[in-house]
Amino acid sequence: MAEQQGLGYSDTPRLPDSPYGVHDGARPQPRIVTPGATPGAPPSDAVVLFDGSGLEAWTRVGGGPPGWRLVDGAMEVVPKTGNIETRAHFGDMQLHLEWAAPAEVRGEGQGRGNSGVFLMGLYEIQVLDGYENPTYADGITGAIYGQYPPRVNACRPPGEWQVYDIAWEAPRFDGETLVAPAFVTVLLNGVLLHHRQPLQGPTKHRQLAAYTPHAATGPLQLQDHRDPVRFRNIWCRPLTDADQA
Ligand code: MG
Repeated sequence: MAEQQGLGYSDTPRLPDSPYGVHDGARPQPRIVTPGATPGAPPSDAVVLFDGSGLEAWTRVGGGPPGWRLVDGAMEVVPKTGNIETRAHFGDMQLHLEWAAPAEVRGEGQGRGNSGVFLMGLYEIQVLDGYENPTYADGITGAIYGQYPPRVNACRPPGEWQVYDIAWEAPRFDGETLVAPAFVTVLLNGVLLHHRQPLQGPTKHRQLAAYTPHAATGPLQLQDHRDPVRFRNIWCRPLTDADQA
């Protein structure tokens, strides 16, 4: 029989990019993920990287325990203690992360509430107090630093919690050859900043970026730019394709 009680068809044309037909009853069911109980809470298959209780998932870049401090369920940059990174390494992933620039406004431009989210330890999505704080466009909050400004400035005032939701596709290399660049989609406070934007290469300061082959996975790194920026509720989901049941 071609169709059974809404469970699919076996006599439909084959999809152009798939071994399955249109409405194919034999196509695997999507894996079940239980969403977080509240918006922003980690879903059932998330890797929780920071929930406020400790820094066990993190190390100082270069080795040793992180020098950052725990305060009010958040972690806070302790200036000059260095960048921190996850012990675990990731490739393609969905990332959720919340951050707050210091409520007390100090400095200006790149010197105000600066930190950063380095995907794979190499590619920076800028964290900055970009609220009524002009700086160069490819260095403002949500910029792919040194490459692409965000489409809009969706910053909340300093001291308020802000939310990044990021979808990351790692670059692909075949030996020394770049097969596909990294792509990133970024939302800040629910507002789209980048939509599957290809990156030019790992983040540089005052230089053009260029790819050199690297591992398929890398750590998530957070930047100590000498401002006491806070982070909380950090989780990610390594990405899988459909038809994986
Ligand atoms: Mg930065």
